[in-house]
Amino acid sequence: MPQAGSTPASTPTHCPYCALQCAMSVSPGPAAGGPAGGSPDRGAGVEPRQFPTNGGALCRKGWSSAQLLGAADRIVEPLLRGPDGVLRPAAWDEVLDLVAAKVRALRTAHGADAVAVFGAGGLTNEKAYQLGKFARLALGTRLIDYNGRFCMSSAAAAGNRSFGLDRGLPFPLTDLGGAGAILLLGSNVAETMPPFVRHLQGARDAGGLIVVDPRRSATARLSEDGAGLHLQPTPGTDLPLLLGLAHVVLAEGLADEDYLARRTVGRDAVARSVAPWWPERVQATTGVPAALLRTAARRLAETARAARAGGAPVYVLTGRGVEQHVNGTDTTTAAINLALLLGLPGTRAGGFGTLTGQGNGQGGREHGQKSDQLPGYRKITDPAHRAHVAAAWGVDESLIPGPGVPATELLHSLGLPGGPRMLFVHGSNVAVSAPDAGRVIEGLRRLDFLVVADFFLSETAAEADVVLPVLQWAEEEGTMTNLEGRILRRRRAVTPPPGARSELWIMAELARRLDAPGRFPTDAREVFEELREASRGGLADYSGIDYAALDAGEAVYWPCPADASPAAGTDEHVAVDSPTLHGTPRLFLDGFAHPDGKARMVAVRFGAAAEQLNLPGTLTLLTGRLLEHYQSGAQTRRVPELNAAQPELRAELHPATALAHGIADGDLVLLSNGRGRVVARAALDAGMRTDCVFLPFHFAGDASANLLTSSATDPVSSMPGFKNASVSLSPLPVG
Ligand code: SF4
Repeated sequence: MPQAGSTPASTPTHCPYCALQCAMSVSPGPAAGGPAGGSPDRGAGVEPRQFPTNGGALCRKGWSSAQLLGAADRIVEPLLRGPDGVLRPAAWDEVLDLVAAKVRALRTAHGADAVAVFGAGGLTNEKAYQLGKFARLALGTRLIDYNGRFCMSSAAAAGNRSFGLDRGLPFPLTDLGGAGAILLLGSNVAETMPPFVRHLQGARDAGGLIVVDPRRSATARLSEDGAGLHLQPTPGTDLPLLLGLAHVVLAEGLADEDYLARRTVGRDAVARSVAPWWPERVQATTGVPAALLRTAARRLAETARAARAGGAPVYVLTGRGVEQHVNGTDTTTAAINLALLLGLPGTRAGGFGTLTGQGNGQGGREHGQKSDQLPGYRKITDPAHRAHVAAAWGVDESLIPGPGVPATELLHSLGLPGGPRMLFVHGSNVAVSAPDAGRVIEGLRRLDFLVVADFFLSETAAEADVVLPVLQWAEEEGTMTNLEGRILRRRRAVTPPPGARSELWIMAELARRLDAPGRFPTDAREVFEELREASRGGLADYSGIDYAALDAGEAVYWPCPADASPAAGTDEHVAVDSPTLHGTPRLFLDGFAHPDGKARMVAVRFGAAAEQLNLPGTLTLLTGRLLEHYQSGAQTRRVPELNAAQPELRAELHPATALAHGIADGDLVLLSNGRGRVVARAALDAGMRTDCVFLPFHFAGDASANLLTSSATDPVSSMPGFKNASVSLSPLPVG
């Protein structure tokens, strides 16, 4: 392994971006010649590696990711805002002393909750774990949450409710390759994670790829090309669509009643709840033709029946398109109910999964960044859970504060009476990525003190009083947990700029200045060893995993208890190209994680949306990702070839919609609602519905789609209803 200060010729690691975590090798570039602000490894290169999830492929983002390392505007020394309002370079001791003094002063004046922390699903497991501990022990605050609340919270809540455990994919991704049918709801993998598409090929070949998306996305086109189906519901009606599919399965006697009797509870309540959703009513509500609904339900059920007899399996998969709603938990629950009716989860006939988006979206939610959780998916309100974590942390349990508040509530309370006066932001660009982003920016500006740890001056960092320059992915050691619950090693491949520091070091330095209890190691391996203990016996148990196993190339999936046999969830059709296997690649084969081992079927209802959509004169706003950009775009907008390919916000509109508004292809348009105004360039696309406009959310300033999105939240998970927004469209007035 590379030692500090050394850079080997080529280092195996994983992509810095999405949850597919494609395997790559990074080679350092010339040792000199980088710009003043860039890494000396400017010119570093990446090569894809063979790995089960990406099959030796990378998308355009992955191929160009090394350009981030040498970006000319990399922050390489701490920045401190002066009395004149300008951010200027400062020494590490000066800014850390100042930050610690601010924490002390604000805690004294306003109490411990005057300070809050906002984390991210892109942080390594070690940093996510340490950040939760840092907030609670060093800052003494209960106020920590993270941007995963915006991504996975509703799917996680649904998984916990139905299965007793949330893991994005409870089976290896390669299982999908042999599928006879896949129902894919609200996910555009063909753009967001292109190497994933190979795993859809079996279902495509069988004519069994069924895509649900109001937009004729690149993934929806794949289903059509492969003789599959594209269901294009009215936005906000995914739930009745799923109730209708369940209705057909039950009404036509296609459910796996033996499975339901043995492995679930709640079947009859669900049957009653879907009974009123006959296909013609679903058509009236969703716009999806009744005949198409019946065809989809029958195709899924007939393939599932064949799967039970040894045929190709069937999977139901969800993404943000159906989850980012104020009824996101119930919609995902309806998808799980459908999978259970078909007899899929926890069997060889298929399963249910949700596609994690952020690079460590899975691990980021397991180790204590969430306002109500401690490491190992432990509950912060459970005395036994608190005692276990306190022992791992080496502190008295009374030092761990109680639950905080979810992300949206936290961000909306910034600087208000009773709200936080100071905020630490790690790995997140909330000024662009949060819903109703204008309101969040106002909150950031109300704060007494904002500290942002980042490697670029993101839109959030630009608002900060102190910016702490941190290491990028190829400059640090650690682990990530991908969308399958597989733990991966991230390795230092290049030498970081001398002025940047690891976040583990920053937390350790601040903890020391604040006389914090507990230990704050700076070495990722040491942090991981403590994480193992903290997670031991929890739902997300990492206690049987160590760096040696990961470095040896073992495939390791949590839960991986220290005393478990090597591969608890293995059966004969595990297909993982690894010398050995540890942990649980397939969950629920022997029972679900509820005490009686049975899945809960939860009856859900379709109610009114928080924001009324489809009003006369308005369009429904759809948001999502482009192939070339990632999340808020803070990284990918700095990669020249990606920015050249997608340099500006484009509003996708149906030609008829554009014509009705007097707009031509390429015109600048104004989109507005009560929350904000956005300027975009019209891009006409006959695959759009006439009642919708699509905006990618990767751009900033008056091109930030989240200036328009809604921050009303799902009552179960606190997921914001990103996809529940209504907007007005007009040509941009001249002048
Ligand atoms: Fe793979 Fe995602 Fe990276 Fe693209 S962005 S190379 S799909 S991990």
